[in-house]
Amino acid sequence: MDILLVTCEHAGNRIPAAYRSLFQAQARLLRTHRGYDIGAAELFGKISAAMADDRYACMLSRLLIDPNRSLNHPALFSAITRPLPRDLRAAIVRQYYLPYREAVETAVARRIGERQRVLHISVHTFTPVLDRRVRTADIGLLYDPQRRIEKKLSRVIRKNLRTVLPELRVRMNYPYAGIADGLVSSLRRKFPPSRYCGMELEVNQKFWTQARCRKNNLLPGIVRALQAAFARE
Ligand SMILES: [Zn+2]
Repeated sequence: MDILLVTCEHAGNRIPAAYRSLFQAQARLLRTHRGYDIGAAELFGKISAAMADDRYACMLSRLLIDPNRSLNHPALFSAITRPLPRDLRAAIVRQYYLPYREAVETAVARRIGERQRVLHISVHTFTPVLDRRVRTADIGLLYDPQRRIEKKLSRVIRKNLRTVLPELRVRMNYPYAGIADGLVSSLRRKFPPSRYCGMELEVNQKFWTQARCRKNNLLPGIVRALQAAFARE
């Protein structure tokens, strides 16, 4: 049987009380796409309520520590937390990073131990303009082209999205490569393709930040497209 796991690594911009003094002058930055994935919590809420067997969201800001980066990645800590002494950084890893990553990994291992296959959707949103470049997609589907099931499922999801939201531009492995560093990539290294299939869903933040882009059928359309794809698989 297939289990659907839905996660959201950048759902919130919360800073734990112990570290708030570091962010005193950063209230504005925390509210931008650098602080969290704008709209992702809502998207995650709708998808997980409709179809998740297991769900995990990290409500802490990636400016504290990025749960979608490996421990050795240079962007694990932000410009605000990177200069902290080593023991404080280790404490942040222990208190805030590992509990999230380990909860997700344990859930996957438990389901696989029960002889189930885990289909994972990691929910993200992206800023419409980065470094003055306009992103040319409304929705991105990220997968590992070497993993047959991920490729097939992503194509079915794209087809379904084109049916329910025909005016939107859906691109594959955009704005990032599916094999770039992240939670999904780390789970791929730990579990075989026959047991674990992970994808990232990336939705343009303009639907939340620009009034003229708001779409009432966006979230129900995405949910329908995903449900139809997983029902077939
Ligand atoms: Zn994200």
